[in-house]
Amino acid sequence: MIMSDLSRAGKTAEIIKKYGFSFQKRFGQNFLIDEHVLNKITEAALIGEKDGVIEIGPGIGTMTQRLCEQAAKVVSIEIDRELMPVLSETLSEYDNVKIVNADVMKTDLEELIKEDFGGMTVRVVANLPYYITTPIVMALLEQQLPIESITIMVQKEVAERMQAMPGTKDYGALSLAVQYYADTYIAANVPPNCFMPRPKVGSCVIRLTVRRSRPVEVKDEKHMFMLIRAAFNQRRKTLANAIANHPGSGHTRDEVIEALKKLGLSETIRGEAMDLGQFAELSNILT
Ligand code: SAM
Repeated sequence: MIMSDLSRAGKTAEIIKKYGFSFQKRFGQNFLIDEHVLNKITEAALIGEKDGVIEIGPGIGTMTQRLCEQAAKVVSIEIDRELMPVLSETLSEYDNVKIVNADVMKTDLEELIKEDFGGMTVRVVANLPYYITTPIVMALLEQQLPIESITIMVQKEVAERMQAMPGTKDYGALSLAVQYYADTYIAANVPPNCFMPRPKVGSCVIRLTVRRSRPVEVKDEKHMFMLIRAAFNQRRKTLANAIANHPGSGHTRDEVIEALKKLGLSETIRGEAMDLGQFAELSNILT
């Protein structure tokens, strides 16, 4: 049964009251209370009935219930111990869910996927705690886990940075890092009144479909990402100066200018004008 928005908000308030639960700002707790948005996330996640889902931060289990109805198995990782009795109640009718009381940043997800989802297509779905969005997303991508996609609610500004193209104000190290590992698709804009309590900022649902192969050929990924970090740490400087000034870069301004010339790029170019392919080529020349 699909509840109306009013009854979803009422139900959340009722559960909060029953368990004497107080929202923890330090855990980024803004619970979803809008049915349409719940639909948007689960639709955007493209969950198949044989799929496994990892949910990060189930809260009181509102979205988890949907996930259990759509997927073969759900593993939800929640840091807040106070939510354990709540989740036992709200998820009592589902036998395909496992709740792990842990910090996702300290969880061995590779092991979890092997143990809980052997052979299944695995998708990550989450209304992420905003205080830790970027570290979680980068950890999921950089570990190169066997996952199909990551569909998440994040701050609008963060979603825009993930999807940004060269030459725009939102373009930066996060755009390049995310786009190296995944294709991005913003599925919905979500206003603050869809959450309890209301966050101060707007949100977006974004799907990151993990690429099966890298979009560019790079000899040394670490080196390329060092160049990218250097470029955007000092984004107002020319790329050559930013890299030469970056502690531990190991490259002089002249070396970078020489490499830029080989690529047919201006010696005064800034990182914000360079695309992923150009960073990869620059890195390949410099290593
Ligand atoms: N999924 C719920 C919903 O949509 O209503 C809650 C979303 S709320 C924005 C974020 C959830 O992540 C909270 O339940 C919070 O306790 C949990 N959380 C915060 N930091 C976490 C971490 N490091 N590991 C696992 N869960 C975390």
